[in-house]
Amino acid sequence: MNLIDTHAHLQFKDYNKDRDAVVKRNSKELEAVINVGAAIDSSKGAVALAKEVPNFYASIGVHPHHPNQWDSKTLTKLAGEEKVVAVGEIGLDLHTYKPLRVLRSNELDDYPKPQLKDQTSMLHEQITLAIERNLPIIFHCRDAYDELINEIGQYKGTIRGVMHCFIGDANQAKRFLDFGLYISFSGNITYKGNNTIREIAKNVPNGKILIETDAPYLPPEPYRGKRNEPIYVKMVATKIAELKNLSIEEATNITTQNAKILFKI
Ligand SMILES: [Zn+2]
Ligand SMILES: [Zn+2]
Repeated sequence: MNLIDTHAHLQFKDYNKDRDAVVKRNSKELEAVINVGAAIDSSKGAVALAKEVPNFYASIGVHPHHPNQWDSKTLTKLAGEEKVVAVGEIGLDLHTYKPLRVLRSNELDDYPKPQLKDQTSMLHEQITLAIERNLPIIFHCRDAYDELINEIGQYKGTIRGVMHCFIGDANQAKRFLDFGLYISFSGNITYKGNNTIREIAKNVPNGKILIETDAPYLPPEPYRGKRNEPIYVKMVATKIAELKNLSIEEATNITTQNAKILFKI
């Protein structure tokens, strides 16, 4: 199947134990995989994988939760590496996480919650980098869709990109589409409670839809609770086909074509 996973993280530590095997089967089964950076280290990791594997590509960027790893000089250098096809994942994330685990008796895991102003300054610097390099942008957003729409309004007509793993509402989807962005859906489109996202996916024009896994996160049914892999993007394509009344081949061709156009691969 000539599917493309437009957003995965095979450089993450989740694959440290068996990365070679994972890379081998995923590169064999898929047309292409874009591994996406979320900080400097993981951007370097994505670039390294792209150098190693012919049909792997890289995106470089600093996620809004990692302002402490901000290094514009290194990021600019990485943007010039071969097979870097995008800047991302960048954006805004105002989700409040519940403490993930108790580290010691009364010490809670302090998941980073950077201030909006730290997030927006990184966002604008990275958008500028994308414009300079003529690269598309992979946007990440959680609980901040309206804020993100406001921040990027000034760039209308000057940037290209995708809103990855969309989980907003129909009105927000429309605003991103009007702006000119693609919208990408992940394995969570298969989850039982996500009717809103399915309804939105149904209405995204065929020329603007992308698919992804966000592996190792968000494994589609029936793999929930397990580690995700790019090959499971097939379940996302299958769901899109069902929603849009297409054959799986048609959904594959449409999403692959869109990925090739946006990322020039
Ligand atoms: Zn993300
Ligand atoms: Zn991601």
